[in-house]
Amino acid sequence: MKIAVIPGDGIGPEIIRQAYKLLDRVGAKYNIDFEYQEVLMGGVAIDKTGLPLPEETLDICKKSDAVLLGAVGGEKWESLPGHLRPEAGLLAIRKGLGVFANLRPAILFKQLKSASSLKEDVLGDGLDIMVVRELTGGIYFGDRGRRQGKNGQEAWDTEAYSEMEIERVARVAFDIARKRSKRLMSIDKANVLESSRLWREVVIRVAQDYPDVSLSHMYVDNAAMQLVRNPRQFDVIVTSNIFGDILSDEASMLTGSLGMLPSASLGQGSLGLYEPIHGSAPDIAGQDKANPIATIMSVAMMVRYSLGSQEAARAIELAVEAALDEGYRTQDIMEPGMTLVGTEEMGDKIASRI
Ligand code: NAD
Repeated sequence: MKIAVIPGDGIGPEIIRQAYKLLDRVGAKYNIDFEYQEVLMGGVAIDKTGLPLPEETLDICKKSDAVLLGAVGGEKWESLPGHLRPEAGLLAIRKGLGVFANLRPAILFKQLKSASSLKEDVLGDGLDIMVVRELTGGIYFGDRGRRQGKNGQEAWDTEAYSEMEIERVARVAFDIARKRSKRLMSIDKANVLESSRLWREVVIRVAQDYPDVSLSHMYVDNAAMQLVRNPRQFDVIVTSNIFGDILSDEASMLTGSLGMLPSASLGQGSLGLYEPIHGSAPDIAGQDKANPIATIMSVAMMVRYSLGSQEAARAIELAVEAALDEGYRTQDIMEPGMTLVGTEEMGDKIASRI
């Protein structure tokens, strides 16, 4: 498996080092030959080439089986114009790789229940919700503009979706639901928006190809409320770009810690982009304080979705659980009575449990 690796900036290189440890163990145990090629993106790429996403990086990523990204960004590059900032590389690589489905699992491990802002009885044994967000269409990419109106300036943005765009992300979500609890919730605003009415029609049509998955629908305002009232009713959620942006952040905060949450962005083939949801955390970079679990869980997603090995993915997730069960915590998830470890030691503890 050819993996393009983007360590990036801030804590990026430290957390990616832990990913290598995991992949080495997984490779040895499951007889998988991982081949890595490190490439430049973000601030480090700006310093060396003047561009946040050099062409060579995108080329190498496109020719790989998967792309693993640490994080990009930092104060040093904040005064640059928008299109030359590290974060511009993020949008460009998603677009360049054609990844239209963003998978954001919100997992609350039972060992970390006290980190959640919700009450224990609402959380039960922990949470495991998968938000599938459409990533390359809708209002973030639609027609926009300003004009002079009779009450001063007017501005507009357009939410537009084609059947093709809805269908392909719906299929990704149905496929995932099929591998989990066989329940899919589509979230829209079909009582008001025409684009949502088309969204619902297409999702219902695609459902005919998945008779084994039970599909339900919810309006986005209700979904935002239900996520904090009774999050365990959700398993797989599929929704548009803007609703997914908001709901996936809401769902991830139910779990309490940014350092634990992975993501995957998938396109048509098996190539995917895998990254933790947090940023480059410049405040703790280089101090052996970063939690590597979000990155390690991203590796599990990579092995599951781009390599197709459910077994190896599960082994990584169980290794994370085992390290947590044994009481190891980085400072962001530290609780009284637990053992405080740094980035490297957490990586070692998890890798040794594969
Ligand atoms: P951030 O996610 O980097 O950090 C927010 C807070 O969470 C900080 O206190 C940080 O120390 C902590 N944190 C984050 N990840 C952690 C981890 N793994 N372990 C322990 N603590 C962790 O967000 P920010 O501070 O708003 O942004 C910092 C930089 O990262 C900015 O330049 C921003 O643009 C960039 N950013 C990049 C990405 C990405 O690469 N995908 C995403 C978000 C932000």
